[in-house]
Amino acid sequence: MRIIFLFLALLVNVNAKLTVAVSYPYIASLTQSIGGDNVRVETLAQGNWDPHFVIPRPSLITKVRDADLLITNGADLEIGWLPPLLNRAANERLNQKSNLLELSKKVTLIDVPSDISRAGGDVHSEGNPHFHLDPRNIPLLADAVTIFLSQKDPSHATQYRQNLTLFKQQWSIHLKRWENQMAALRGEEIIQYHPVFNYFLRTYGLKTIGTIEPLAGIPPSSAHTMKLITLMKEKKPYMIMHDVYHPTKTGEFIADKSGVKLVLLPHDVGATSRADNLVSLFDTLIQAMR
Ligand SMILES: [Zn+2]
Repeated sequence: MRIIFLFLALLVNVNAKLTVAVSYPYIASLTQSIGGDNVRVETLAQGNWDPHFVIPRPSLITKVRDADLLITNGADLEIGWLPPLLNRAANERLNQKSNLLELSKKVTLIDVPSDISRAGGDVHSEGNPHFHLDPRNIPLLADAVTIFLSQKDPSHATQYRQNLTLFKQQWSIHLKRWENQMAALRGEEIIQYHPVFNYFLRTYGLKTIGTIEPLAGIPPSSAHTMKLITLMKEKKPYMIMHDVYHPTKTGEFIADKSGVKLVLLPHDVGATSRADNLVSLFDTLIQAMR
């Protein structure tokens, strides 16, 4: 009898889906592409929220409590909201390091401050954490997710590797297409609200000449805004790239005074209705810029 129970328990275990909690929608899109039907993905933050400041609602605590694994962006992007959520969820599985994957460890960060004085702003103390907006980083992240899922669920490792191969083949076609589409904008100068698009700009050879925030995470001030308008009148940048979650009031004022167009752009999957997966995130971004 006991053997039958053990056998049944084993069967249930083999057929059970892994529940993977992820901090942001782009990670969900990636994890679903690799994990397919073998994983259930629970996304914590929504794509149109400020990724730095997520409110730890009870529904998020439930998602963390039920998870077998956790995949995070890292580079301190979740530092203000995920640790308290993990504390309150008290999920033993997520106390084990081997059940966690921090994607920032798999890429090279840019804008790394040379000292720890926070002179570079209130956020981004480890460097710029918005690395998923370099589309060349996505295959590296896909590799990491594949290795992680395969270690945790070896019975489906072959499937995960096949999904990875297909994903990377398709991604390389998109990369070529995006490179062609962005070629005409190489060398253009732009303004951003927050340096959320720095990796994207680096990929395609564009340059930020100013941010509406005086420093990352610090709200606009009138002195900084006036300086920015003077700079923009002189340099005539191509556009103001504005995320969807900060108020556009200052950006619209600056656009009006400088004559430079302001464009609202998605920074993550789900930030706008058209950016509903990783490919359409970059498609939407690139289309809006041209
Ligand atoms: Zn940021």
